[in-house]
Amino acid sequence: MTASQPAPSAQNAHYPHLMAPLDLGFTSLRNRVLMGSMHTGLEDRFWNIPKLARYFAERAEGGVGLMVTGGFSPNLVGQLAPLASTMNNPVTARLHRRVTGEVHDAGGKICLQLLHAGRYAYQPYSVSASALKAPISPFKPRALSTKGVEKQIEAFVSAAGYAKMAGYDGVEVMGSEGYFINQFLCQRTNQRTDKWGGTFANRMQLPVEIVRRIRQKVGPEFILIYRLSMLDLVEGGQTWEEVVQLGKAIEAAGASIINTGIGWHEARVPTIVTSVPRAAFSGVSAKFRHEVNIPVVTTNRINDPATAEALLARGDGDMVSMARPLLADPEFVRKAAQGRADEINTCIACNQACLDHVFQAKRASCLVNPRACHETEMNLTIAPIVRQVAVVGAGPAGLAAATTAARRGHRVTLFEGDDRIGGQFNYASRIPGKEEFTETLRYFNRQIELLDIDLQLGQRVTAEQLAQGQFDDVIVASGVQPRTPEIPGIDHPKVLGYLDVLRHNKPVGQSVAILGAGGIGFDVGEFLSHDHGDQPEGQPQSIDDWQKEWGVDSAFATPGGLTERQKPTAARQLFLLQRKTSKPGKGLGKTSGWVHRAALKSRNVEMIAGVSYRRIDDEGLHITINHPDTGGSEERLLAVDNVVLCTGQLPLRTLYDDIMGHAGIQSQGTRCFLIGGADKALELDAKGAIRQGTEVAAAL
Ligand code: FAD
Ligand code: NAP
Ligand code: SF4
Repeated sequence: MTASQPAPSAQNAHYPHLMAPLDLGFTSLRNRVLMGSMHTGLEDRFWNIPKLARYFAERAEGGVGLMVTGGFSPNLVGQLAPLASTMNNPVTARLHRRVTGEVHDAGGKICLQLLHAGRYAYQPYSVSASALKAPISPFKPRALSTKGVEKQIEAFVSAAGYAKMAGYDGVEVMGSEGYFINQFLCQRTNQRTDKWGGTFANRMQLPVEIVRRIRQKVGPEFILIYRLSMLDLVEGGQTWEEVVQLGKAIEAAGASIINTGIGWHEARVPTIVTSVPRAAFSGVSAKFRHEVNIPVVTTNRINDPATAEALLARGDGDMVSMARPLLADPEFVRKAAQGRADEINTCIACNQACLDHVFQAKRASCLVNPRACHETEMNLTIAPIVRQVAVVGAGPAGLAAATTAARRGHRVTLFEGDDRIGGQFNYASRIPGKEEFTETLRYFNRQIELLDIDLQLGQRVTAEQLAQGQFDDVIVASGVQPRTPEIPGIDHPKVLGYLDVLRHNKPVGQSVAILGAGGIGFDVGEFLSHDHGDQPEGQPQSIDDWQKEWGVDSAFATPGGLTERQKPTAARQLFLLQRKTSKPGKGLGKTSGWVHRAALKSRNVEMIAGVSYRRIDDEGLHITINHPDTGGSEERLLAVDNVVLCTGQLPLRTLYDDIMGHAGIQSQGTRCFLIGGADKALELDAKGAIRQGTEVAAAL
């Protein structure tokens, strides 16, 4: 096997390191992009295999060097959930030939990931090193007998054989994120006294044997990736010496590539959400890379070709893993290679349509690309007849509708009352930690140019103007207006709306009560708790500051890579209030809500549930706090300088109503559609807005 150096490719002027082929000795990868494993939900049912095949084939057509499937369990006890994806018989292997065939026809290469869930399984027959329940699963695993461990190893080996039978180019052994293999590596989860427990040399024998025996089974010409947990981010995680010892043993056992794993799923340090700075963890791959002679993949929060190129150029890894960015844009690699990076639909790391879906047992997709994982169902065909289409409102819904309609060949005019596109997304992108959201607006701006859409900014268009335009179709995406709750004193000068803060930059005092603890309430809390002098707006937090805030050892030397968290300074005294008695932030995303809550807590934001708003006056905000557990209540005065309303939205439909009542438009036979927040404001988010805009325009 050849050790790789990321030599620049003379063939690509834009990203020479990223586009350089990688020679593995027995095979060569066309570039340094590895599409990391992502569970999509399509893996679990055999009848979805044609959809899975198309999903991967489109990414292979887009130029990805090597792809890794979502996790497949080698046996039933290792399944993530009952009936979850498994590779344990020849029938399944044969069905997967559809996937490998389509990928190979598209010039791509693909490995199957072998993932044994161990104690993370959401099923009652789970097994692990010891009978210790994980904090993120309701089921206590059964501790394996010594023979039982042997059986798991054999299951990995035969699953690798089935992967080969299925036509995969290799397998990835999932040795990180706290799954089965990790559970053997650390004493916190391995309290065994037999040969698989005790010293680290014993504990690491499980993955080493898995890799050694897989290599024996599949022969030398089969890619064997090992995903190695380089940073556990949990108490009692591996020491750096252990990580290196394991890495060297894995290399000796026959791995072709080592991929970086960051953080167990139960870790309380965010690893991939949008507030994690780009490439925040590549330093650990850089440190590890010098210890082995096989290619090392660096990973986590790498979502643009320039960052990927820079990491490879400075030697942080031999390959770059990107998973969600390829959900967001299957053509990522081709666009980068052709110098069209500004056309990439960038993953904004929101998790809203990918990970959050998977955790709710729904099929994954992507907020910015609703076609993701729906490639066979959402086909954007060229329209048989070119129609004149007006789209009103250039928020996420209108942007998706306008670009989809134009892509299908329609002539599109996009009216926007503001002097820029984006709607509410402009305010989202002002929130510290959500700087990535500007990428979506950059993408749409570029698409508007490329698709020759007639963009009319500063045009708060009326029904009368639309009537004069003689449009075949009018799509109204006029968005929402903030709700003003009925509270005595709501007209007091200390009351502001979230738009006063985020749009009009009105001055805000030192103590503030935020009414409404939904997504916007939390975001406004984040915005107001930051000192914008310390972290200028629009500039992501530095990796150094972020590591301090979350307690990540910048030298990656402590066990598990954890160190004491340094509390950030809060810019103001904040109260975040809601009427519901449930935990504030309960409705936020499954995989990101805890990060928002922890971030605000570290800035001493006081979150209060079960609130009745009594009145607002010169003294401040008078509330009653109801305690459903005791049936009691208490009255409290929050002596705040300002009250900021984040109390939900109402649809803005005046224009739509005017159009429907306009005799001229109706007599022209113009079709009118209502989409986005203007259609449904309650719980409407950008994911729903973009999907609806795309679907309506796909059907024109
Ligand atoms: P809008 O974004 O409101 O856009 C409507 C547009 O129509 C506006 O630009 C308006 O100027 C224009 N318009 C209205 N009337 C006319 C007219 N007559 N003529 C011309 N133009 C007109 N969602 C998420 O999914 N994830 C998040 O993390 C997230 N964070 C957020 C953070 C903040 C601070 C805010 C405020 C919102 C956030 N959202 C988030 C919500 C998301 O931005 C909205 O759901 C989404 O923008 C709604 O899209 P829309 O196109 O329907 O409406
Ligand atoms: P939201 O999440 O529905 O929250 C609205 C808040 O207002 C709730 O906390 C609600 O709580 C309160 N409220 C509703 N009616 C009220 C009334 N009459 N009086 C007082 N309080 C009232 O909506 P949002 O915060 O406006 O966000 C809009 C959309 O954007 C949502 O779909 C959200 O998911 C999305 N978004 C997402 C994110 C994210 O990070 N994923 C961030 C921002 C926005 P009580 O009724 O309990 O008081
Ligand atoms: Fe990225 Fe969000 Fe799309 Fe997931 S849903 S791939 S995090 S943009």
